[in-house]
Amino acid sequence: QATPLSPLARVRPLTCAESRRGDRRAVRSLGDSAVHVSAARHDATFGFSAVFDAGTSQEAVFEGSGMRELVELAVGGFACTVFAFGQTGSGKTYTLMGPLAQSEARPAAPCALGLMQRSFACLLEQSWGAGLALSASYVEIYNEQVRDLLSPGPPCALPLRWSKSRGFYVENQLSVEFESLEAVTALLLEGSRRRRSSAHALNKHSSRSHALLTVHVRSRAGVTSSPAGPQHGAGSSRQGTLCFVDLAGSERVKDTGSTGELCVEANNINRSLLALGEARAARGAARRRRRGCHGAPPPAGHCISLLAKPRGKRPHVPYRDSKLTRLLARALGGSGITLMVACVSPSSRCLSETLSTLRYASRARSVTTRP
Ligand code: ADP
Ligand code: MG
Repeated sequence: QATPLSPLARVRPLTCAESRRGDRRAVRSLGDSAVHVSAARHDATFGFSAVFDAGTSQEAVFEGSGMRELVELAVGGFACTVFAFGQTGSGKTYTLMGPLAQSEARPAAPCALGLMQRSFACLLEQSWGAGLALSASYVEIYNEQVRDLLSPGPPCALPLRWSKSRGFYVENQLSVEFESLEAVTALLLEGSRRRRSSAHALNKHSSRSHALLTVHVRSRAGVTSSPAGPQHGAGSSRQGTLCFVDLAGSERVKDTGSTGELCVEANNINRSLLALGEARAARGAARRRRRGCHGAPPPAGHCISLLAKPRGKRPHVPYRDSKLTRLLARALGGSGITLMVACVSPSSRCLSETLSTLRYASRARSVTTRP
């Protein structure tokens, strides 16, 4: 049965810096299923499954997002994915993990915990007494290399393979078992500290990689009574997954003031987001070359745009264009169940990126998967 990707939108509050320099709020929610953008030359409304405005708490986002149902589906053996996307500084990491991963040792206030910690708690609640075995893996895609965020020592690239039964998968990634919220939160924190980030003009802690944390849920047949999902493992156990994807934000090199290494990173980020269909085609190639940014040319295909076409009329979907689209192939067009969270800044100065994120997200509404 075709299941639509359900895109949600979250508009973050104006930051202190934005208020101080006098930015105007140009983006608002219109009821609970539309976002309205109004500025001098733009006046547009975009529809979503749910919309969360600046005042919405982390808890209300969790409860209103359908995350609880997604956790139940993962327990039932399905491959579930939630991914946050949007411009750098738009609140993706905050939505997924709260401020936890950004401050060093201090734990975040419970009210600030993000979708991830809330889902872990929900999952652990369901696992007690149900005989579920839980484990987590955490990788990042940095400059088109997949790196394990849980293995100690210097980061090394892991091979990305394809098999008929598993689709694309990361070979040799570490998977660590856990039985408590403290244990899995510690894994999240440990991995997030290893994640590549840099400071630039738009965000003091800008993530320079795409991060994928996957919880593997194994249950023994006979212990739970829910119907088996499509992912039957060996013998009598089946496995569901719950994957959280924190994308590095699209960025215009002009806005972030990136040069040198930062610029190469930005190009890799934009390239993979373009393959996904989010970013617009790179402009100003000459300017980037002057800044010393060389990289592969941008890919031609936009997976999301192609997936939005009717199945019969759809050309080949170029998942192979980037590591990111390979790892998201099942979530976007395969047998997974996927929740997308479009994060946007309310500021009038971010308008063009905001419009592109909202347009992309509303296009994704017509994408379906077949779990
Ligand atoms: P991104 O991951 O999209 O680059 P971040 O999640 O790092 O952006 O958010 C940028 C800044 O905005 C951070 O300081 C974060 O704490 C703050 N922020 C984002 N969303 C919210 C929100 N809903 N409420 C309060 N602060 C937020
Ligand atoms: Mg981030």
